[in-house]
Parts: sequence; C-alpha cells; structure tokens
Amino acid sequence: MLPAIEAEAIILDLVQPFDSQQDTEIVDLETANGRVLATAIEGKLDIPHWDNSAMDGYAVRYEDVKNCSANQPAILEVVEEIPAGYKSAVKIKSGEAARIFTGAMLPAGADTIVIQENTQIKDRKVIILAAPQPQEFVRHQGAFYRAGMPMLEAGITLGAADIAVLATAQCTQLPVYRRPRVAILSTGNELVSPEQPLQPGQIVDSNQYALASFIVSNGGIPIKLGIVPDRPEALKEKISQAINSADLVLSTGGVSVGDYDYVDRILAELGGELQIRSVAVKPGKPLTVAKFPNCIYFGIPGNPVSALVSCWRFVQPTLRKLSGQKNFLPTFIKAHTRDRLNSGGKRETYLWGKLFLVNGEYEFALAGGSHSSGNLINLAQTNGLAVMPIGQKAIAPGELIRVMQVDRALT
Ligand code: AMP
Ligand code: MG
Repeated sequence: MLPAIEAEAIILDLVQPFDSQQDTEIVDLETANGRVLATAIEGKLDIPHWDNSAMDGYAVRYEDVKNCSANQPAILEVVEEIPAGYKSAVKIKSGEAARIFTGAMLPAGADTIVIQENTQIKDRKVIILAAPQPQEFVRHQGAFYRAGMPMLEAGITLGAADIAVLATAQCTQLPVYRRPRVAILSTGNELVSPEQPLQPGQIVDSNQYALASFIVSNGGIPIKLGIVPDRPEALKEKISQAINSADLVLSTGGVSVGDYDYVDRILAELGGELQIRSVAVKPGKPLTVAKFPNCIYFGIPGNPVSALVSCWRFVQPTLRKLSGQKNFLPTFIKAHTRDRLNSGGKRETYLWGKLFLVNGEYEFALAGGSHSSGNLINLAQTNGLAVMPIGQKAIAPGELIRVMQVDRALT
C-alpha cells in the first residue's frame, strides 16, 4: 500500500504531456474558453495602439496650462472636437485645445488632458481652472503592452480575462492542446443503467455518469463504453478496445480482492505495466495504475465515493498534466473544521464536506450522514475533502485541517 504522495509522484512520472506540435488544434476565439494554450502568445499590436485620453476633457499642451489656477486661469481656443473612434485632423498649437472624450485618440501637439470638471466653456474658448500634472490622463501607446513582448504563457487554461486580452490583441485563431480522450467503463454483473427498472440485487451504474461529468469539467472528452459484466473474456475485449481508443482509461470496480475482480490480471495479459495496486487512502484503497504504450489505465474502486475521491485525488492531476496544463497539482488549503473529524489512523483519510469562506478564513463542514464509501447521497455539493494524515485519529472542532478543493466553487 503506497502513501498517497508516493502514488501521486509515480503517476505523474508516467504522464507525458501532450506534444505542443502534434497534439494541438487551432480554435476560434469564440470557442477558446476552457482550452489550454499550446504555445506562448505574443501580440503584434502595441496596447493602447495609440495615445488616447483616459477621461472626458480637453487635450492641451502642458506648457500652456502648467501655471494656471482658479485665480489665474489659462484660456485656450477649442479648435476641434474628438469623439472616441476618430482621428484628429489638426495639430494643437500653443493657445489651443481640443475637446476630447474617453478613449479618443490624442491629437498631434497635445500631451496632457485636463478633465472637464476643471474647466468652463465660454463661446469657443475653454477656461482651465487648475493645472494638471504633465501628461496627466494620457494613456500612451504601448503603455500596457509592447508588441512582441510575451503576452500569455503556454499551458494556461483560457478564461474570460485571457479571451479579452486575445481579442484586444486581434489574436483570433489560437493553438490549443486537443482535449484528452478518456474511455470509461463500469465493471460489475450487478450494474444497470439509470433508465432500467431495478431487479432485486441490481445497482444503478452511477459511476459512468459521475466520471463522464468529472472528465468534461476537466477538459476531456469522455468515451462511455458502458457496463461490462465480470466475465474475463468480456472484460478483456472491452479493456483492449479502451486502451486502443483513448489517452486515458478509467474503469470502475473489479480491482479489489474479491473472486470477481479480474481487472489487474487482464491488464497484465494485455501487456500493461502495473505500477500501482493499492494506495493507503480511505476511501479508495484499491487503485490500479498501469502503463500502456499509448495510454494510462486507472482501475478505480467501484464504490461511488471511492471512485470520485480517486478521480479527484489522482486522475485530475493526471488529466491536467496530460492536457498540457502548467498547473496540474491539486489545491490544498487550510481550514478550521466546524465538526469533530475521526479516522482509523491507518490510511490517509479523505472526509467529504463543504468549504466556506467566513470573514476571510476557510471553514470546513463535514457532510452529514453516513461516511460509508457506498453512500454517495451526502457527496452531493461536495467542494472539499478534509485530509487526515496517517496516524491522526481525531481533530477537534475549530482546529486547522488541510482540505483538498474539488471541482466546484465555494459555497
Ligand atoms: P467493486 O469495486 O467492484 O468490488 O464494487 C464495490 C461496490 O461498488 C459494490 O457494492 C458495487 O455494487 C458498487 N459499484 C461498483 N461499480 C459501480 C458503479 N459503476 N456504479 C455504482 N456502484 C458501483
Ligand atoms: Mg464489482
């Protein structure tokens, strides 16, 4: 039984991230949200692209207004009006000003903006009542970004702010990593799909749905291969199909020590190198990880909670690293537990519940009800797993505990 941290290291060592040349595709900006950038981006435009005004006011020459005040105003002739989107036609000379609006291009000759609040208008003249700072309220060309400088790094997952930057830089076609293909199969004679009426003894295959949704939220393409009975020939055929069609394979069930647990043996028969057989975590002890030439196979325990905890703890960083993401490790934060937490102490124990942010401090509330790995009902809305290290049997309310954030926002 490997400690979780060692298992994580072995698994991440197996993962060869996608190739930044071969495993990429070009997407439009419209569809780039959530995708992982495959190459660093450099913009071709200075931003701002020309000097412009940050305020509504008057574009002036600083020399003309530097000594003015309410008692000794400067009076300038307004020679032009420049709304945003227009290029000025004149050059501002000494004694002149242009009416200008936010975002509008600075006219030649002007170097400073006087905000309209510090002016009065009389006929075609503007009275400047307060001296500005030199170059005040001018956004200079290239002040935010110089063409050719690094703009976005490879390996970031694109979100709204990144998309805005790319749009501004007129980068509309982007090289992103392809989405990893992840085959999922559920093993078990007892399993039926959710739309089938249950016969005595049968269990609904919730894992297929849980894992598919987990994969989608982590940027992968789920390939649902359905339910496979615990028959070695049937399993071998399906697993063989899976390893030949995906970058990653997740099967649930059949990796324990029961009479019907055939997965490990079949993986070995199919040429897989078994790297991990079990991990010292609770839930999720039976975890098989095997390497094939073109994919990594995770044999995940069948219990629905164990299955998702294994995915969050071990598959998520794998999927992220594989898909080229720079940051792939899980996020652990310190939180004060609201409830007493107990563990057997023999394995690193993951207790599911909710994280809250209260007055700037994280708090963890244990999910109510049974913490059996078969009880997935109280797993709903989980956003954190409190981690009790090996050897620690109890944690009192109010104490700090490490919590692994899982895939939803804070409650
Ligand atoms: P196993 O790991 O195959 O021994 O399964 C352990 C427990 O998880 C058994 O109670 C199974 O019925 C249950 N289980 C296995 N696979 C699934 C699944 N796909 N969906 C829901 N429960 C499952
Ligand atoms: Mg089974």
